[in-house]
Amino acid sequence: QLHNTIQELKGNIRVFCRVRPLVDGGLSKHIQFTPTDNKTVTLAKTEESHTGKTADTQKNYNFSFDRVFGPQASQQEVFEEISLLVQSALDGYNVCCFAYGQTGSGKTYTMEGDEFDETRGVIPRAVQQIFKAAEKLGAQGWEFTFTASFVEIYNETLRDLLYTGKASKRPEHEIRKSTNNEITITNLTYEKVSCEDQVLGLIALANQNRSTAQTAQNDRSSRSHSVFQLDIEGVHAGRDVKCKSTLCLVDLAGSERMVKSQSQGERFKEMTAINGSLSNLGIVIAALANKESYVPYRNSKLTYLLQGCLGGNSKTLMFVNIAPETDSFGESLNSLRFASKVN
Ligand code: ADP
Ligand code: MG
Repeated sequence: QLHNTIQELKGNIRVFCRVRPLVDGGLSKHIQFTPTDNKTVTLAKTEESHTGKTADTQKNYNFSFDRVFGPQASQQEVFEEISLLVQSALDGYNVCCFAYGQTGSGKTYTMEGDEFDETRGVIPRAVQQIFKAAEKLGAQGWEFTFTASFVEIYNETLRDLLYTGKASKRPEHEIRKSTNNEITITNLTYEKVSCEDQVLGLIALANQNRSTAQTAQNDRSSRSHSVFQLDIEGVHAGRDVKCKSTLCLVDLAGSERMVKSQSQGERFKEMTAINGSLSNLGIVIAALANKESYVPYRNSKLTYLLQGCLGGNSKTLMFVNIAPETDSFGESLNSLRFASKVN
């Protein structure tokens, strides 16, 4: 009962926590779950007694989310929890789903997964579901148009991940807001798509584009946000009704804190850009959750770009991805604290 009330107050923002398995498949020593409710995760820190004469003390940090997925949770199980949300994109709601967490915590695995059927992530599953559902609605007289785009935000600069032209001719991009409050990006590739395979082709192209940049610049993908957008427009021939919405799936830059004194030049610029846009994302989502009158969308490219998909009657889901290794304890605690602020 209480939980329902909280859900209503929170409106359209949900937070899911996902803890990935240890690399060797074992279970983490310091992360505990409450299996009865699937909503609580505990980080436990054992402080060793300095003198050796007193007993070690254990400090527990508890966090509750709309759902907590442990290391055994399959991609299918995770997707089942968000498929209704994906479905609502066809009902005219804007939907935005983020993966937040330190590098190596499982953001890309959650959003994209890998090439095997079983381990496909949210993006390919969502796309499959949308096209299947659109086909069914087609039999009832609906006709849909889908437009996909894929953009990277690095150091507050946009880069088209579906660009196929010459590298030397890469255009620059700006975010524009039209008089009817629609957000578009100048010079961006907006690709009309009509089936799942076409979208999978675009995802492959985006990955290729990203790995080219990655080769030129080590570890770049973990320091940039990648934003996949599917614009959906539906018309019903017989009933003169229309709907329009956007499904937006975002793999965020790694949230790890870099040590200031160790980052100079480019690294310092990156660190500032990442910290700025992630913390602004938190501020924006918290402002929406608290129904504040002022939401600072324009303080970062990411939130400006997503403005249409956040707030209003949009539905937002954030995954907070957690790495289970003991040396990730501090980062995990930071991520969980960040996520509980927006929750
Ligand atoms: P990030 O995108 O946050 O940097 P990745 O998604 O690349 O992290 O995950 C790091 C590694 O862990 C990858 O090899 C990935 O396949 C693996 N991994 C992540 N999450 C899971 C999971 N839930 N189950 C199995 N392997 C996972
Ligand atoms: Mg990644």
